[in-house]
Amino acid sequence: MDNESPWALGLDIGGTKIVGGLVNARGELATVHGKPIIIRYEYDGMTEGSSRAQELLVRIGQELLAVPTVSQAQISAVGIGVAGTVDFTQGRVVIDSANVPGMEEIDFPTLCIEQFGVPGYADNDVNCAAYAEAHFGAGRGCNPVFCATLGAGVGGGLIVAGQVYRGFFGSAMEIGHTVVNYQGGPCPCGGTGHLEKWFATAAIEKRLAQAIQQHPNCLIGQYSAIVQRPRVEALFAAVRDNDPVAQSILDDLLEMLAAALGTVSSLLVPEVVVIGGGIAQAGEVLFAPLRAKLPKYIAYPSGAYLPAIVPAALGPEATLIGAGALALAERGKAKSS
Ligand SMILES: [Zn+2]
Repeated sequence: MDNESPWALGLDIGGTKIVGGLVNARGELATVHGKPIIIRYEYDGMTEGSSRAQELLVRIGQELLAVPTVSQAQISAVGIGVAGTVDFTQGRVVIDSANVPGMEEIDFPTLCIEQFGVPGYADNDVNCAAYAEAHFGAGRGCNPVFCATLGAGVGGGLIVAGQVYRGFFGSAMEIGHTVVNYQGGPCPCGGTGHLEKWFATAAIEKRLAQAIQQHPNCLIGQYSAIVQRPRVEALFAAVRDNDPVAQSILDDLLEMLAAALGTVSSLLVPEVVVIGGGIAQAGEVLFAPLRAKLPKYIAYPSGAYLPAIVPAALGPEATLIGAGALALAERGKAKSS
């Protein structure tokens, strides 16, 4: 293990868990006996709130600092990926995610200086994951890189020439809140006809429950019965076994996702679109039809341009790796200016 170069605490605050690791500028995680050190606490952002998130964040940081592999003197920054809209220059959440209310109360840079004695940088969790995938993962060597995550919602991040594009303030690239049906009614965010009204874990599970009621013999129902609730995994399992109800639902969901990705691709012309998040774990049953649907939504579909659609490479640690590496890059800029 590298004993010279700087390391960062990389932290990922989601709605159901807070995870941390030690990250260097090459996006490598510190290891013990060849295994990455990842510290993880489950928590419910909705009920436990932001003060509990702050407490766990500090606890994870302290536990990581006690790891003997990297000396405390080598830790030069803290990077935090957090759900919600983040003002990167202030290091604060300015619009809470629906999953973790109250995050606006946390002043991350001050917290990091007080608790860990080094500068802290906070960014949107998907921006961090996109940064990691663009530098060290499936988007490496490509420019620009658009990254989407499919899970509780649909997140997005854009990396241009190695830098996170954040827009006028931190809310850029929210592909989950692009319009796929202007007559589609309200999205949970308050907007109209957004992708996330349909393409989000809770919305999909609700739709699966309705399908099971209407079609009691469909395979989604049989596979869901095992876990006593309709899970997105049951949808994919049923599609793999050629269940027509499941195929029709997935077809409709992927049509909307392809429409949103087509719009994004026509506007931004990314070299590659990296797709991660829990739902993307389904693999080719999702990627193959998505690739097939995309061309019709791209500007000038007979033209030469079509972005590669590839699965994310870094797994669930992408956010904390990106948060740590981004913090080290920012720390480097601050030192040299
Ligand atoms: Zn919305």
